[in-house]
This record gives sequence, C-alpha cells and structure tokens, in this order.
Amino acid sequence: MEQISSPITQQRAWVNINHQALRNNVQELKNFLTSNTQLMAVIKADAYGHGAIKVAETVLNAGVDYLAIATLTEGIELREAGINAPIMILGAINTADEVKEIVRYNLEPTLCTPSQAFVFAETLSCLNATLLVHLKLDTGMSRLGTHWHNAVDFVQYVQQFPQFQIKSIYSHLATADDINTSIMELQHSRFEEAISALKANGIKTPCLHLANSAGALSDRALHYDMVRIGLALYGVYPAPHLHQKVKLQATLEVKARITQIKTLLPNTGVSYGHTFVCDRLTKIAIVGIGYADGIPRLLSNKMKVIIRGQFVDQIGNITMDQLMLNITNFPDLEVGEIVTLLGKDEDLEISADDWANSIGTISWEILCSFKHRLPRINYHKKIDD
Ligand SMILES: *Cc1c(COP(=O)(O)O)cnc(C)c1O
Repeated sequence: MEQISSPITQQRAWVNINHQALRNNVQELKNFLTSNTQLMAVIKADAYGHGAIKVAETVLNAGVDYLAIATLTEGIELREAGINAPIMILGAINTADEVKEIVRYNLEPTLCTPSQAFVFAETLSCLNATLLVHLKLDTGMSRLGTHWHNAVDFVQYVQQFPQFQIKSIYSHLATADDINTSIMELQHSRFEEAISALKANGIKTPCLHLANSAGALSDRALHYDMVRIGLALYGVYPAPHLHQKVKLQATLEVKARITQIKTLLPNTGVSYGHTFVCDRLTKIAIVGIGYADGIPRLLSNKMKVIIRGQFVDQIGNITMDQLMLNITNFPDLEVGEIVTLLGKDEDLEISADDWANSIGTISWEILCSFKHRLPRINYHKKIDD
C-alpha cells in the first residue's frame, strides 16, 4: 500500500481512511435494513475521527439519505463545504443566536422541551422563517428529550407554532449493545406507547426513529422509518454478539514510522518511569507517534503493533510524541519502516475493539481520540494488495 518513497506518506505518522470500506459498509447496512427504512449517517465528532466532510461526500454517494451531527458548528462546517443533504443536529440548541445560524445554514434542530421550542418559535417569528424540526422523546436513556408519557402535550405544544414543521419524532436507546435486551424492549414499548397516544389524539405521526447501530443490528422491529448509524458505518461492531448480522470492514488505520533503532544492555530501563527494564541485550525501535496523537497512554506495555505482517511488542511508557518497540527478534527492521498501530498489515489486523478491551473503554472513544496532528489520508480504492 504505502510506498516508503511516496511523498504523501513521508510523515512520521498518519491515519488512513478507507472510503471503499465506507461504501461497502453503507451497502451492507442498506441491504440489511427493512425496506423503506432510511439510513441516517451519524458523522458527529468529525465522523468519529475520520473527517466529516470527506465521509459525508462518500456516504451520500453510496446512498445514505440523511446526515446527523451533534453541534451547530459541525453542521456549519458541512454546509460551508457544499454538502446540501438534510442535516439533523442531535444535540440541544438553546439560544436565539444559534437559531439564527440554524436558519441561515438550513440545518434541522432537535427540540427537546417545550421551553426550548418557545425560544425557537419566538426567534423564528422575528426572522419570519420556518424550520424543519425533530422532536426528542426520552424513553429511558435519561439524557435529552421529553418523557415519553408527555409526548402528546409536547407534540401539541410544538404544533401550535406555524414556524415549525415536525420532520421526525425520535428516541435513543441506552443499552442496545447489551446481550440482555430487557431494557431495550422496555424503551421500545414506551416508544410504541407514545406513538399510540399520538395517534389516539389525532396526531399524524411523521418519520419515526429509535435505533442506533446496536439497535439496528439487534432487532429489525426497531428500524421504523429511519435508523441513525454511527459506529457500524466505520466498520466496528457495537458488541461481539452482533457480528453475524452484516459484514463490515474497518475504515480507519493508524500508521507511523520507525525513527531510530538502538540496542540496550541488560538492566536498562525504557521510557519515563522505567516501567520496562530489559532483562537481556535488547534491540528497540522508536516510533514517531504518542499520546498527543491519540494513542492511549494506558496501552503502555500492553499493546502490540504490526510490522511486515508480524506482531511486535510495545515497551515502556508511551510518551507524548513517541513510543518504543522491542524488535530484538526482528533484526532486519530499518529506520523509515512503517508500523501499523491500528488496522491491517498483510494477514494481521488490530482493531479499535482490541484497544478498547485492553484498557476498559469502548471502541467509540478510541475512534474519536485521534488528533488533528495526524494527517488523514483518504483512499478511494482498495487499500490492500
Ligand atoms: C451518536 C448517536 C447515534 C449513533 O450511535 P452509534 O452507536 O455510533 O450508532 C445515534 N443516535 C444518537 C442520538 C446519537 O447521539
């Protein structure tokens, strides 16, 4: 894949984004969805660290219907890049100034409470503008939204303002990646309860959506009119028991180069704190990537990397800009050699899940952790071979 001589990869460290894999994942997910269910691509947090603009272009081309981001700024960034697909904001917006920006950039906010709706309605009437809005119900996540049992009052409150057109009503699942589905089923039944109450009050329901990646993969009954897919788009499964449903490919790789090689005498300590001490003559490689790039320091002495299709142990504390490898068993390695921290090299692969499992976090957090100091290199054809 990357040639050592290629100018674009003459860097100490970088992130590869595989757009072919992204397209594959969109297609796999679309094939899996209940017919008539739309696919919303969740590209908040710079598309989980992949680069939101480039990801938006690829997934829209691959047939995604809708985009979702978390903050107003993320929405503006997409519009300024010329993305004109519908964009929903998942987070809560509360100020009149932000409402003006939403109108200006043609974004679709989430309304979570009547008082928030009131701020929007007032500002919109001053601007003589209308907005497509998405109403959020809380069915058990205990985060944003109005409680499901107040759905009718909330929807009727919003409906009284001619400034709003209710585009969708939605809720969010708290435990969809859990093998025990009881809480998810409770949330599903509360969502159903809210929908029935709306219908019983003569309210015509708009687009309805409930499922994130895990919800969509667990149960087709949760698909409704749209699913909001983040993690699965990036080729990572929300839980091991959901692997069988679709065939996803990881879309992000982290690579770096060996910048120096040296040999250490027995009893020599490595890196800050000397948490690794050589018990024999040890050859080490220094790699130009560290925790300031987003490699979790908690992986120190726990992680492996891949070089020339073989696993190599990382040793000593990971530092801000560099980390060390034990290459005693790999005498041929040279400065400039490419090291795979995450992703594939020949037949081996290291996944975001591998890292998350070894430090007690989740793959979502791993993906969002890579800093802008790492350039993103976008591949539109198959990376490997
Ligand atoms: C982030 C988010 C999603 C996407 O979740 P994944 O688990 O990454 O698929 C969906 N809905 C809401 C409300 C979110 O905040």
